[in-house]
Amino acid sequence: MDLHLQGKNVLITGGSSGIGLAVARKYAQEGANIAIWARGAERALSESASIEKEFNVQAKGISCDVTKMDSIEQAMEATLAFFGGIDILINNAGTGSEETVMEASDEKWQYYWDLHVMAAIRTSRLAVPSMKKRGGGVIIQTASICAKQPLWYEPIYNTTKAALVMFSKCLANELIKENIRVVTISPGLVLTSDWWKTAGILSEKEGITAKEYLDGIAHKNAPIDRFASPEEIAEFYAFIGSGKASYCVGSNYSIDGGWLAVID
Ligand code: NDP
Repeated sequence: MDLHLQGKNVLITGGSSGIGLAVARKYAQEGANIAIWARGAERALSESASIEKEFNVQAKGISCDVTKMDSIEQAMEATLAFFGGIDILINNAGTGSEETVMEASDEKWQYYWDLHVMAAIRTSRLAVPSMKKRGGGVIIQTASICAKQPLWYEPIYNTTKAALVMFSKCLANELIKENIRVVTISPGLVLTSDWWKTAGILSEKEGITAKEYLDGIAHKNAPIDRFASPEEIAEFYAFIGSGKASYCVGSNYSIDGGWLAVID
């Protein structure tokens, strides 16, 4: 299926690793130009250089901490200077948390609010004028199954991802008249380096291997009985960002191997 993404300009926050990197590579494979934002400039630059070489598209790694407005402004300026305009924005940067509501500080709540919610608000506000000039666009947020089905050990993650889903819905209603589609994707278990790191630590305590630990998590939670690969998830990002998904507006799509325990 030709997704007609050739020559589109795609900005992906948190595009230097895990899901974001797989999405960046998939869009590049489809012929799109790529801007990757991440705090670590070195990794963003080396991944964008690999993408450029492998897929023969334009790609640029840009240093940005999306929890900070001034950093977002600078990165957006650099992105627009590089591309001349943005067609697809993917708000993907994020990470898990670990706390209880009773013990977590205001600062921690604020950090995750900035990372998961304000970042998407701010990047959208800055990218939309360019999309309007180009006659339309697509904005995709990466939320999580935890926006609908909370994990007990990360209330801040659950709450901020749920807020991101509602923001996305509100933005979709506001922007569709400009031919800008806004959608959310909520992955379940996706095997990224962070999971291997966690598994390495926790499996040791249980006297099992990291692989056994991860298999156990998948077995307990996902009816499909395994993690997704980032590349598997990226296929859906490419479809939903393409014109083939032209009637998909404002929804939050689960891609979770059946983990969500309710119909929705
Ligand atoms: P990774 O840790 O593999 O990648 C995270 C990416 O985000 C990196 O590129 C990282 O680069 C960047 N990043 C982190 N913090 C910031 C920041 N403050 N500013 C800019 N960039 C930042 O994560 P995943 O691929 O696992 O997760 C990606 C998204 O998917 C997240 O939003 C996560 O919540 C969500 N998700 C993941 C699931 C999973 O099972 N893996 C399941 C459901 C949702 P750097 O550190 O250099 O800044």
